[in-house]
Amino acid sequence: MLPKKASQSLQKRLVELKEKPETQGYLRDEQRHGMFCCSCNVRGGSFSSCSKCTMVSYCGDSCKDRDATIHGKVCKALQAVCHFDEIHASGRLWRGCCDASGQVHEYRILIDGVRRFQFPLLIEDRSARAKSMTSWSDWVNLMTSNQISWARDPINQIMNQDDFRRIMLGDSLQSKEETVLHQISTEIASFPLTLFHALRSFGLLRNEKVRVEPLVIHVIGAEADKEAAYSREIQCILQTLVGLTPILLVYVGPLNSKSGRVIEEDAQHFHNLRTRKELGSASSFFFRGTYADLLCSPLYSQPDMVMAFHPGFHDGTYPWWPTLQFLLHENVPLALTCFSEKDLQETLDMISDTNPVFGAKIVYGQSDSKNPFASQFLVPAAEGTNLLRSSNLYLLGLNGILKRFPKGGGILDGSHMETMALSVAMSIMNEGAPSPTQQADLYILKERARSYVKFANALQQIRPCVGHTMVSEENPEVWSLVTAAIG
Ligand SMILES: [Zn+2]
Ligand SMILES: [Zn+2]
Repeated sequence: MLPKKASQSLQKRLVELKEKPETQGYLRDEQRHGMFCCSCNVRGGSFSSCSKCTMVSYCGDSCKDRDATIHGKVCKALQAVCHFDEIHASGRLWRGCCDASGQVHEYRILIDGVRRFQFPLLIEDRSARAKSMTSWSDWVNLMTSNQISWARDPINQIMNQDDFRRIMLGDSLQSKEETVLHQISTEIASFPLTLFHALRSFGLLRNEKVRVEPLVIHVIGAEADKEAAYSREIQCILQTLVGLTPILLVYVGPLNSKSGRVIEEDAQHFHNLRTRKELGSASSFFFRGTYADLLCSPLYSQPDMVMAFHPGFHDGTYPWWPTLQFLLHENVPLALTCFSEKDLQETLDMISDTNPVFGAKIVYGQSDSKNPFASQFLVPAAEGTNLLRSSNLYLLGLNGILKRFPKGGGILDGSHMETMALSVAMSIMNEGAPSPTQQADLYILKERARSYVKFANALQQIRPCVGHTMVSEENPEVWSLVTAAIG
C-alpha cells in the first residue's frame, strides 16, 4: 500500500498525463481492447476473435480474411503471450529468495512440476570466440561448446545441453511451459548480451593491453523489477564474454529499490569494488537515486560506458534531458535500446543533428539499428492490434554532441545548467492560464527545470564553474522568479 499522500500525488499525475495527446493514443488503444475491429477499426456491434490467439477481433469474415496475411505473421507470437499470461497467473513462474529480514532480493525462474531454469554460471573465459559472435545461435554454441565445464555446472542437474539449446533458440518447443521458458530466458539473456554487444561496438573490449582497473558501466534508469532483478544473470553471462577484463556494473535509478542490496551510502564498499584489481572479476552495485544524486555522491567517477535499456528519452514524463546533455557533453559512450519502431523513430528524431538541444554523434545504429540480441519475447505493442514489440529490439550508440552548449564549446558546468533551467522557467512564465492539456506539458516543463537545478547544484559540488558566475548568484532577483515558477 502506498502512503495516502504518495497515492494522491500519483492520482494527480495520472489525471495530468491523461490529458496529454500522446497519452490519449495509448488510452484509446486500451479502452477499445476487444471492442474494435483489428482490420477496419470499426467500433460497436459484435465481434469475433481470432480462434487461435484470441488477441485480435474482427467485425466480420471479410475483415478477418483481409487481415489474414498480416495477422498470420504474429498469431503464433500472440498465442505464446497467452501461454505466458496463463502460467504467470497460476503463480508457478517466479520464486523470490528472501534474505534474513524477509525481503525478497533475488528471483529465480521456476515452473513447478516442470523444471527449474537457471542459466549455466560458467566462469570460463570465452572472450576469444565471443568477439565474432553475431547471433543468438552463436551465443548458444559458445555456451554449449565445452562439455567439461558444463558438467560441473548446477544446471546439468536439471537441464542438459540439448534442452538448453532448444529452449534458448525456440526450436521445436514441446509444451506451453517450454514456450514460456524460451520467452523468459531470452528476455533475461538479452540484457547482458546487448551490453556486451554495446561494449564491443564502442571498441571498449580491444585487448591492446591487459586492463587491471574495472571497466565501470553505469546502467541508468535501472528498475528493481527489470535489469536490476536480473543483475546476477547479467554479471555472470557478461563475465564469460568479456574474459579477463574486470567489470563493475553500477545500477542507477530512483526506482532501483532492489531490496537487501541497496547500499547507496556505502562509499567504502564501493571504493573497494572500484579499485579491485582482479582479472576476471565482476561486481554489481545498486544506487537508488537519479543521476544528479549519483553525481554529487562520493560514488561518482566518469564511467567507461553508460547503458540505458529502453529509457524512452523522448518521453517527457521522466526528466531525462539534463542527464542526456551531461553525458553527451562529457563524451561518455552511451548505449541505449528501443523496444519498438515508434520508440526508435522518436528517439532518433530527438537526438538528430537538426535538434538544437541534442544533436548527438551517433557512433553506431543509425542506418541499421536492429539488435542481434533482442529479446525473443514478443508482446503486443498495443492491445488488440498486430503490432509487436520486444525488449532491446533496437540498439544505438552515442558519443558526444554536435552542437555544444554554450557556443564555442567548453566544459558543461553548473551555470550552463542554471541557464537551461532559466530558459525552461521563461517558457513556463510566458504561458497564460494553461488549458488541461497544457497542464500536463507544464508538469513536464517544471520537472525538467527542477532537474536542471538539481544538476546545477551537483556540478557546482564536483567542479565549480570558473570564469563566470552562477545565474542564482549573479542575479538573485531573476533566480527567485525562476524558483517561484518551477515550484
Ligand atoms: Zn472490420
Ligand atoms: Zn491469432
